[in-house]
Amino acid sequence: MSDQSERLPGPALSAEPSGTGGLSRRGVLRAAAAGALSIPFAAALASPATAVTIPAATAAGVPSAAPELPAGLMPYRSPYINWAGEITHGGLWACAPRTGQDLARLANWARASGWRLRARGKSHTWSPLTITQGTEPDAPILLLDTTVHLTHMELTAPPAGAPGAVRAQPGVTIETLMAFLADHGLGVTNTPAPGELTLGGTLAIDAHGTSVPADGETARPGHTYGSLSNLVLSLTAVVWDADVDAYVVRTFHRGTDEECEALATHLGRALIAEVVLQAGEEVPLRCQSRVDLTADELFAAPGSALAARGNTFADFMAESGRVETIWFAFTDKPWLKVWSLSPQRPLTSRRVYAPYNYPFSDVIPTPVSRLVGLIVGGSWHLAPVLGATQYTVAATGLTATLATDLWGPAYMLQFYLRPTTLRETANGYGILTSRADVQRVVSEFAAYYKQRLAAWAAAGRFPVNGQVEIRVSGLDQPVDSAAPGARPPLLSVVRPHPDHPEFDCAVWVDVLTQPTSPGAHEFYRELEQFLMSTFDGGYALARVEWSKGWAYTDDAAWADDDVIESAIPASYGAGQWSEAVAVLDRLDPHGVFGNEFTDRLVR
Ligand SMILES: Cc1cc2nc3c(=O)[nH]c(=O)nc-3n(C[C@H](O)[C@H](O)[C@H](O)COP(=O)(O)OP(=O)(O)OC[C@H]3O[C@@H](n4cnc5c(N)ncnc54)[C@H](O)[C@@H]3O)c2cc1C
Repeated sequence: MSDQSERLPGPALSAEPSGTGGLSRRGVLRAAAAGALSIPFAAALASPATAVTIPAATAAGVPSAAPELPAGLMPYRSPYINWAGEITHGGLWACAPRTGQDLARLANWARASGWRLRARGKSHTWSPLTITQGTEPDAPILLLDTTVHLTHMELTAPPAGAPGAVRAQPGVTIETLMAFLADHGLGVTNTPAPGELTLGGTLAIDAHGTSVPADGETARPGHTYGSLSNLVLSLTAVVWDADVDAYVVRTFHRGTDEECEALATHLGRALIAEVVLQAGEEVPLRCQSRVDLTADELFAAPGSALAARGNTFADFMAESGRVETIWFAFTDKPWLKVWSLSPQRPLTSRRVYAPYNYPFSDVIPTPVSRLVGLIVGGSWHLAPVLGATQYTVAATGLTATLATDLWGPAYMLQFYLRPTTLRETANGYGILTSRADVQRVVSEFAAYYKQRLAAWAAAGRFPVNGQVEIRVSGLDQPVDSAAPGARPPLLSVVRPHPDHPEFDCAVWVDVLTQPTSPGAHEFYRELEQFLMSTFDGGYALARVEWSKGWAYTDDAAWADDDVIESAIPASYGAGQWSEAVAVLDRLDPHGVFGNEFTDRLVR
C-alpha cells in the first residue's frame, strides 16, 4: 500500500536565486568545444544561487511575463546547458521548490495553466530528457531546481537483509550521499564515475558503475551489482489522484506497490520528492592502473593466442570483478583500471583521503587543450595526435602523481571524474550477455570500432577524437533487494530480460568525441546499426544507455524513429515496455512531467 507521507523538512531557506541568459546554442557549443567555457560560468549554470542577475524582460530576448506560481515560490530565469553544450536554452522560467508539497502545488498549477514541469539536477545528461534541442524561447516549461533546497538526507531503519538505509531528497549529489554513508560504515557497489550528479538525476536513468562478482566473491547484503535504481526501497513522488482530482504527494514501497518499480527509472516522466535506498557495508577498495597492455590483447577474441596469455578484459573481470578501460582514439594501449575489495591497505598501495585522484584527467593540461582548440577549429586530422597526447598524459600522470596503485574508502575510488574534465559528447549502450560471453562482446565491439576508425581515417575523415570506455556491471536482480517481492526497475537498462535468464551482466560501451566533429553522427549511426544487428538478442542484446547518445541518423542523435519507436521497446521484451508506460501515464495522465521527446519515447 502506498501512503501519503513526507518526512524530510529540507534545510533552512536561502535567498531566491536569479537567472542569467543570452547565450546562443551555437555560441555555447563553440565555447564548450574549445574548452573555453570557463569554470565559474559552468558553475553558475549548475548553481543558480551564484548566477548573474538580469532583468527578466531582457533575458535572451524572451518577452514572456513571469508566471504566477503558487504562493511562496518565486520564479526566476535560468539558462540551461547540458554537459557537452548540445542542448541549451538562454533562459527558461525556473524556481527552487523546498518541499514535496511545493512540488505537488506546482504540478496542480502547471496542469491548470498549461505548463510542463522539468526537474533539474546538475543538468549533466546528454540526452533530451530535461528539455529538447530547439525548445522555444518562451516555451511554457518551468525548470525545478532540486539542488537548492531538496538536499536533505538522514539514515533510516533498514529492512531485514540490509545493513543500512538512507532517506534522501533528490537534489543531493551522489558524492555527498556516498560520503555520508561512508561516515556510517555504509556504501554501495556501483556508482557513476562523477560524484557531481544528483540522486534524482541518476535514478531517472538507472545510473551504473562497473562491477560484477569476482570469481569466488559472494554477494553482500544491501548491495547490488546492478544500478542505483535497484537499491530503491521506497519512492515519494507527485502523482495524479483521480479521487481528489489533483496531483498529490504519495509514497510507494518496493515490492508492494507496482508504481515503485516504474518510478525507480522513469526517464524524466515523473517527479520524485524523496527516496529511501538500501545500503551495504562499506569495504575499502584498491584501484590499480596499467597502461602497458595493448588493446589487441585486452580485447582479444576468446580462444585466440593473444587471449591465452591471460590478460584479457574478462580475465581482469574474473580476478577482481571491477574493470574499466579507457582507450584513446588511434592509440594501441588503453588505460586499464582494476578495482578490488581490499579491507586492508596492500603494502604497495597509496592511501587516498578524497575522491578524484587523477588530477591530470580533471584539469586539462595545456598540450591537450591546445590540440582540442586546433581540432575544433577545423584541424580534425589531428585526432590521432590528440589520442597519443592523452595517452602520454595519462601514462606520465599516473606515475608522476603516484596513482597507479591507490587504496581507500570505496567512494573515494569510485568517483574519479570532475566537471572540469574535457567536455565531449558520448554515445552509450548496455549490452546484456552472460558472464561467459563478456569477452566475445568486448572483442567484437573493439574489432569493429578499430576497423571503422581506420577506414574513416583512410578516407581522410576523423569523426572520433575522444576515447572509448568499456565497463561491465551486473543486472538489476530482484534478489539483491531487501524488499520482499521486489521486481526490477521496469525501465532499467539492466533489467533482466524475461526470455534470457542466462544474461547476467551488461557490457557498457561509450565512444566520445567533440560534439561538433564532422561525420560524428554518421559514425555513431554506423556503430549503432552494428551493435543492434550484432547484439540482437542471440548471445547478447544491446539496449541504449538513457543518459547518453543513441537513435542516430546521419545528422542527429535521438532522432531515428525506428530506434525510438520500435527497437528500444522491443529490447525490453513484449509487454514489459508497455507495462511501464501504462503506470507512468496513469501517475501523470495530464503529461505535466515530460517534454516533446519523452512524449515520443515513453509511449
Ligand atoms: C562526464 C560524465 C560521466 C558520466 N558517467 C556516468 C557513469 O559512470 N555511469 C552512469 O550511469 N552515468 C554516468 N553519467 C550520466 C549521468 O549519470 C546522468 O546524466 C545523470 O542523469 C546526471 O545527473 P544530473 O543530476 O545532472 O541530472 P539532470 O541531467 O539534471 O537530469 C536528468 C534527468 O533526471 C530528471 N530528474 C532530476 N531530478 C528529478 C526529480 N527530482 N524528479 C524527477 N526527475 C528528475 C531530469 O528531469 C532529467 O530527465 C555521466 C555523465 C557525465 C556528464
